[in-house]
Amino acid sequence: MHPAKWIIVTGGVLSGLGKGTAAAAIGLLIKNNLKIVTVKCDGYLNVDPGTMNPIEHGEVFVLEDGGEVDMDFGHYERFLNTNCKFEWNLTSGKIFNSVIEKERKGEFLGKTIQIYPHVVDEIKKRFNEIAEKEKADIMLIEIGGTIGDIENAWFTEAVRQLKKDVGPDNIIYVHLTYVPFLHSVGEPKTKPAQRDIALLREKGIQPNIIIARSKEMLLKKHKEKIALFCDIDEECVISGRDIDTIYEIPLMFKKEGMVELLVKKLDVKATNLSEWELLVEKIKNPEQVVKVAICGKYTELKDSYASIIEALAHAGAHLGAKVSLKWIETTDIEERKISIEEALKDVRGVIIPGGFGTRGAEGKIEMIRYAREKNIPFLGLCFGLQLAVVEFARNVCGLDANSEEVDEKTSNPVIAILPEQIGIDKKGGTMRLGSYTARLKEGTLVQNLYKSNLAVERHRHRYEVNPKYHDVLQKNGLVFSGISENRRLVEFIEFPKNKFHAATQAHPEFKSRLLNPSPLFYGFVSACMN
Ligand code: GLN
Repeated sequence: MHPAKWIIVTGGVLSGLGKGTAAAAIGLLIKNNLKIVTVKCDGYLNVDPGTMNPIEHGEVFVLEDGGEVDMDFGHYERFLNTNCKFEWNLTSGKIFNSVIEKERKGEFLGKTIQIYPHVVDEIKKRFNEIAEKEKADIMLIEIGGTIGDIENAWFTEAVRQLKKDVGPDNIIYVHLTYVPFLHSVGEPKTKPAQRDIALLREKGIQPNIIIARSKEMLLKKHKEKIALFCDIDEECVISGRDIDTIYEIPLMFKKEGMVELLVKKLDVKATNLSEWELLVEKIKNPEQVVKVAICGKYTELKDSYASIIEALAHAGAHLGAKVSLKWIETTDIEERKISIEEALKDVRGVIIPGGFGTRGAEGKIEMIRYAREKNIPFLGLCFGLQLAVVEFARNVCGLDANSEEVDEKTSNPVIAILPEQIGIDKKGGTMRLGSYTARLKEGTLVQNLYKSNLAVERHRHRYEVNPKYHDVLQKNGLVFSGISENRRLVEFIEFPKNKFHAATQAHPEFKSRLLNPSPLFYGFVSACMN
């Protein structure tokens, strides 16, 4: 095995405790100049989450290389300030695919193909290949779901076996567990955590560090109890209480003594977090609050828009503002359950995020019209740009227009399928994905914000502004502030009559970082503040 230090993060009791942010925070504490490679193992049989409805699984995160991956990669990138790769997201789908392919080729001729050794070995082989290829100093591996899930069994077994392969001094196991607060007795109860860790040990994994998630900080006596029953030192039980901003997690872990544990066990150094600490202070003590609306159709699960929420927080941190969010389900606008005036009466800006399909689209178009006519700052992202173009074509250019995606038979398809997408019938991983460069137009709002003639952002779409309508849109006052390098595809638009009416075909939220906020989000939040 490649000579890296290996950190394995597992979780139990419940999902949704924040294993991804905990793993990312651990990485940040010891990052310095080390090459940390983050691997996420997801038990499901999808090859990647790209085909899942965000309401099922949260946001589909898009990488530079176009990989559609689990949203935890967003946390890894934002905390560790790195760009991850598609191969680093292992799913049961990917693993089984390659084992079965090898079986068909005859690579295991004569053998019965089994979960152990074939599937488990394939997983370990992938770990090692990634470590070698990336020359990793630290391999930070997170197992999705909770210990004991059937679909994660092979990943759990693979990380258990790693201890022998890499040597016990080169690996630590961190387990995230849960300590509920029982109101009837007025105290936290450690029994679920004890049972959870017993299950982990039954799988052959003895944790080195336990992070006990709970509502409040745990007292010494609770830590003692967990330590005793789980056979570790009390200082190895780290309290992780609920907090307002995820960016405080590394600081909380640090206060709890996590850095010393990592330094001692892995022979690494502590990261200097002073700039991070300063920004967290700014997040916790904002000078003002600005409320903005996110208008979509996956609003019942806020995780669907995770990167947008974070990009707003980053911009807010640098501008001294807390961005509070109002969620508007655009089908409610369509069904007249609420009027636009009512929905937007207390907000300072409107975001139309990425999306797919017909449901909710007309509601979004109406919201964009309202924002444009009332000069309310508007930011459109991907589908948001496409619907802003439809709105402009209809209400300014006077065309009976739509996107082909929303209405196949529209008489003016101002948004049309990308030519290279015609004839593609496979849905998995086939959109225009990943990083593309746009040339920005001199003197535009967008160019001003990017402070450059180029903007490189990530993409995930099948449709584009139809070139046949470029002229009429521009003649009527829509400015194409960014165009793809081949000069065909509209990457950014703006309507200069308003103080901020801008949209992009890209998803700049994926590249926003706490220390380096997205220029477009920065401009939008700033416009909402003035
Ligand atoms: N549905 C649109 C397209 O495929 C927009 C996609 C998105 O918002 N990510 O082009």
